[in-house]
Amino acid sequence: MFAPLPKEPDYGAHELDVLARWERERTFDRLRELNADGPRFSFVDGPITANNPMGVHHAWGRTLKDVFQRYKALRGHTQRYQNGFDCQGLWVEVEVEKSLGLNSKREIEEYGLAEFAKRCRERVAKYSEVITEQSRRLGMWMDWDNDYYTFTDTNIEYIWRFLKEVHERGWLYKGHRSTVWCPRCGTSISQHELFAGEYKELEHPSLFVRFPLRGREGESLVVWTTTPWTLPANVAAAVNPEADYGLTEEGEWWAVSRKPDSTFVRTVKGAELVGLEYDGPFDHLPAQAGVVHKVIPWDDVALDEGTGIVHIAPGAGAEDFELSRVHGLAVLAPLDEAGRMLPGFGYDGLTSDEVAGPVTDHLAANGLLVGSGTIVHRYPTCWRCGTPLVFRVVDDWFISAEEIRPQMMAANAKVEWTPAFYSKRMEDWLRNMGDWNISRKRYFGLPLPFYPCEDCDTIQVIGSRQELEERALRGLDQLEELHRPWIDNVPIACDGCGGELFRVPEVGDAWLDAGIVPLSTLGWRNPARIEHGYARGAGEGLTGADLPDNAYWEEWFPADWISEMREQIRLWFYSISFMSVTMLGRSPYQRVLTYEKLLDETGREMHRSWGNAIGVDEAFERMGADVMRWQFCAQPPSQNLKFGFGPAQEIRRRLLTLWNSTKFFVDYANIAGFEPRYEDLAAGPDGDLQPLDRWVVERTRQLVADTTAGYERYLTVDAVRAFDDFVEDLSNWYIRRSRRRFWDGDEAALRTLWYALVTGLRVIAPVLPFLSEHLWQELVRPVAGAPDSVFLAGWPEEHAADDGLLREMADVRAVVALGHSARQSAALKVRQPLARLVVEGAPLAEAHTDEIADELRVKAVEFGRVDATELRVKPNLPVLGPKLGKELGAIRAALAGGDFEELADGRFRVLGHELGPDEVLVERTGKEGWAVAALDGVTVALDTALDEELLREGRVYELIHLVNTMRRDQGLELTDRIVLTVPGADEDLVGYEERIKSETLAVELRVDGELAIAKT
Ligand SMILES: [Zn+2]
Ligand SMILES: [Zn+2]
Repeated sequence: MFAPLPKEPDYGAHELDVLARWERERTFDRLRELNADGPRFSFVDGPITANNPMGVHHAWGRTLKDVFQRYKALRGHTQRYQNGFDCQGLWVEVEVEKSLGLNSKREIEEYGLAEFAKRCRERVAKYSEVITEQSRRLGMWMDWDNDYYTFTDTNIEYIWRFLKEVHERGWLYKGHRSTVWCPRCGTSISQHELFAGEYKELEHPSLFVRFPLRGREGESLVVWTTTPWTLPANVAAAVNPEADYGLTEEGEWWAVSRKPDSTFVRTVKGAELVGLEYDGPFDHLPAQAGVVHKVIPWDDVALDEGTGIVHIAPGAGAEDFELSRVHGLAVLAPLDEAGRMLPGFGYDGLTSDEVAGPVTDHLAANGLLVGSGTIVHRYPTCWRCGTPLVFRVVDDWFISAEEIRPQMMAANAKVEWTPAFYSKRMEDWLRNMGDWNISRKRYFGLPLPFYPCEDCDTIQVIGSRQELEERALRGLDQLEELHRPWIDNVPIACDGCGGELFRVPEVGDAWLDAGIVPLSTLGWRNPARIEHGYARGAGEGLTGADLPDNAYWEEWFPADWISEMREQIRLWFYSISFMSVTMLGRSPYQRVLTYEKLLDETGREMHRSWGNAIGVDEAFERMGADVMRWQFCAQPPSQNLKFGFGPAQEIRRRLLTLWNSTKFFVDYANIAGFEPRYEDLAAGPDGDLQPLDRWVVERTRQLVADTTAGYERYLTVDAVRAFDDFVEDLSNWYIRRSRRRFWDGDEAALRTLWYALVTGLRVIAPVLPFLSEHLWQELVRPVAGAPDSVFLAGWPEEHAADDGLLREMADVRAVVALGHSARQSAALKVRQPLARLVVEGAPLAEAHTDEIADELRVKAVEFGRVDATELRVKPNLPVLGPKLGKELGAIRAALAGGDFEELADGRFRVLGHELGPDEVLVERTGKEGWAVAALDGVTVALDTALDEELLREGRVYELIHLVNTMRRDQGLELTDRIVLTVPGADEDLVGYEERIKSETLAVELRVDGELAIAKT
């Protein structure tokens, strides 16, 4: 006996119920025990930042990770299931600053670095717990007590080791270079972080400024700028040597193409202006002392905006800085860390924005302003705090990418990408990547272990805590963890002069933290496993993760598979590759699945401030985890996902079909007292099966093959589509066509349906773990010999499906679909029986004539030529294409134009070619008295003539339908018997008494008064 199912699933309730069951029955632990000796499937988790609750876009990635881990587990693979948390760096600092109300680096320092570090750790501890809870609710199975945290001393030591290696190879350097800078965060922004930030539409000043030429009385260059704050740092003006420049009557030099309506008194090539000197607009400033302003050549001067003459300030722009190296220009850097003007530039302490007004006033007062206005343009902002970015020249630490670039490209070429074209995206990124800017002038991050000695002119890099301890001069007793401020209090002895060396103040780019995990979490080169050895420093008490040994690393490295969103090409995929290729010369992963962005259901980005963001808890509440997972898995990964409650509603509607089919089974199995056999799941039911049963068994085998292929390709969308089609076939064909047999308690039908339903649950379980488990409990668990969880049942056995039978039924369904559409076009209800159906072009359907007759409610089905008034012939492209080649177009046109001759045996002559019946698709439209429908070479024609008997039979079906509706409306059970009363007007239907009684479970039929039913 199965427990009866309610009309609709209560996702929230049964998901919580399943979670409690898994917990209570240790299902996940038992699965791991079961697979302990299985083949390894190595997955390495890209860490989620433990800084905020998780968002629905995180849920997408985490679902995909869980789906494939569950699939591999069902296939018997042993896995690590280690979740990772990213814990340090700017993102954590910025949130902690906000919560403490601190708004500058000075305020952080006043607050105290030790306290600040503790607040950061507390935030990580809090949100790693929140994210864990949310991930469990999503159904994610991970080894939750043994997560890796990137801020642990162990992880830090591994990065130190990498940095020492990089230094020994001569790749590490301190760069004096122009860098993108966030004035609020007070740190530089690396190339990959720049891409992660948003370009905002911002309004900036637009100034045209005169630079008077020396020795050329009355002549000036005119330049254009949108960054007035850079003018006090101007040292040169660049022209395009190839372009034409003209001198206007007002004495202004412009590129000719920028002033097409002007008359020029003189025109010269830019090259002729090169070398001229001019008076800078701020020559009086101390910072400008000794600077000689010159015109320089630059091929990249844009001629599509401004004046064609570019003001150059090497201390305030990347390209300007590069030009300063070529032309030996002075580098004047006007901004401090907070983006305020430095002394010597005339506007001490003003921000780059505040300085715009006074600079404009100064220009106007000195007759240097040609014109001014504003411009709205796209401008980069900080990816963390949204502040507009500036350029600064600073000292930063870099790792040269030159030597590693070809090795990383070679390693990437061996990686299998899903979808495949992303391999090229990765390659493009690697080809163009700049040197890796690894330093941040911040606090709670990886302490860069660089100890410069000025006397020896060396940089010494510490590669481990042990090395630090050996060389420390003092301060080890206060070294709580490898973080600022504690680490800064441990000076070391110089290995050259013995002098006291202090660490540089910088911390590391957070992508170093995440990039090392394929080595650090797996115990690379660690001589012996250390229990809880990963949980040192800031990670102590947060996790019990072990530090495995090198033998373990060899077993699990490289990852068989990783998965993150596409922007990680520039971030995590890049950093793990960089670090592993450096240390080992190999990629840390063999396959990778990447996917696009999550948008709202209308296709806009989700933003809290726009009111269209969906919180993950709200999604659990309102749609349920399974529906979310389905939404993620149904998405082709190369396209943006439009996520929302609208699509969720549609998914619920589709899943209801599965639910209804299951409920149908349960209801009739209970009536029949049916008991399934667990062994049936191995190869399907045997014994006395009818053609439809055999078909559904083959259809189920096909489902197993299709979903397996989808998962093996790491494309959930393929598995979801296969399942969706299967449920449709099961519900709208198999069950509908077999209804009567279920009413009769037919054992073969019940066995077949149970097998098909349960196999369906098994293959979709990775995507829908809750619904599958819930229904497994209902349908399978009570069966003798059955495992108590769908996840302990393994993957269904694969059997080759009988293609012939599947193709036959595909033809049947094509005929039936056309039959229904022909009925519709003639406005003939299905309940009205018809005399005759003629089918042309679906030969495989002939074996199932009865099925077609019954489904379409026709008395006779004939296979043959449809006699029609109009004949349409199309080329069968897969066959004719290769045969005809270039001629195909002409043949197709001739056929479409009716320019052909019909020969015997379904052959046609066209343009001198004779085409066989398999080379063309023939469709016919009907004559008077026939309803015809045609598609893809199949044509059906329904005889629409009705005689008295057909009309009477139609009324019988109407009556049965009406009575069964009344049964439902009056809440009768499926097995309740009734006495049926029909009105006198229907007395002529009594000839069909037996059929009416059996279809309505009536024990007696009376003719009297009004239509009525009474339960006996
Ligand atoms: Zn910022
Ligand atoms: Zn020294």
